[in-house]
Amino acid sequence: VSQSRYAYEALQPHIDSLTMYIHLNKHHQAYVTNLNNALEGSKFKELKLEELLLRASKTGDVIRNNAGGHYNHSLFWKLLTPNSTWDPNTALAKQIIKQFATVDSLKNVMNRAASTRFGSGWAWLYLTPEKKLAVCSSPNQDNPIMDAMTDRGLPIIGIDVWEHAYYLNYQNKRVDYLSAIWKLINWQEANRMYTEALTNPFMKEIERTGWTELKDLHKAMQQILPAAKGGNFEPLRAQAYVLKDLAIKLKDSKLPPSFKSPELEKILSEVTSSTEQLSSMVRNNASDAELSNKMSGLSDAMKKLQNIFNKE
Ligand code: MN
Repeated sequence: VSQSRYAYEALQPHIDSLTMYIHLNKHHQAYVTNLNNALEGSKFKELKLEELLLRASKTGDVIRNNAGGHYNHSLFWKLLTPNSTWDPNTALAKQIIKQFATVDSLKNVMNRAASTRFGSGWAWLYLTPEKKLAVCSSPNQDNPIMDAMTDRGLPIIGIDVWEHAYYLNYQNKRVDYLSAIWKLINWQEANRMYTEALTNPFMKEIERTGWTELKDLHKAMQQILPAAKGGNFEPLRAQAYVLKDLAIKLKDSKLPPSFKSPELEKILSEVTSSTEQLSSMVRNNASDAELSNKMSGLSDAMKKLQNIFNKE
């Protein structure tokens, strides 16, 4: 863990030198040490930091918290500077003004997210898959890259609202810390994060892991398909209406922008109509053979869907 861009005392009087020293050398260092220990001998060992975040719901809490802690703090140090200057002509500034009207109103939205976060966490300005700016907060060391969050995208600005980030100067007064932190934001670095995020291919991975409606249907299919292939149609007869509901939810869901295409929409219609037909066949006591036939059609359509979604 290191940051050599500015001295510990460089952010005074807004953030004191001892807080910076402890925050970097004790807190951030602990995330790195604990992450390395947790990865040792784990099946996630070979993954890059961002890939760990993407799978946060599957890595377990120790890796999730410490990988998040390492990523978030590495970003936080870069986003602070003793020489904060707002330049209205950068790409990020133009987008902020387009969406929030003024930079002050963005600050208000971020401060609200930060001050209403109960307990420890972060406030985020991030880029959504639709290439829009958005604001959210996260608990603990979570961030919008994580599949465990509902607000997904690529971080641009992260504000640490753990008390260890401000306690010596501000004690429990998070609001005072928040008004001070904006005097330290490195807008050049934030603009670099924004322009990089706009073309970052990693956004596709966020979209892939964020389409929960597809995951839900896929999971329901997995509970039915193996039995049906083995000649047992009872799970299908019991669950056909669930498949139909999940397929309709999928068709009506917000499609991941990078994957949205006429082909995708056509396959989604096929999937939906197959599940509707299955459901009505079950209601009308269709034979196993008839169900088997329709079920393999649905299974093929699901495979096509997965193929579109998984190809580069
Ligand atoms: Mn912190």
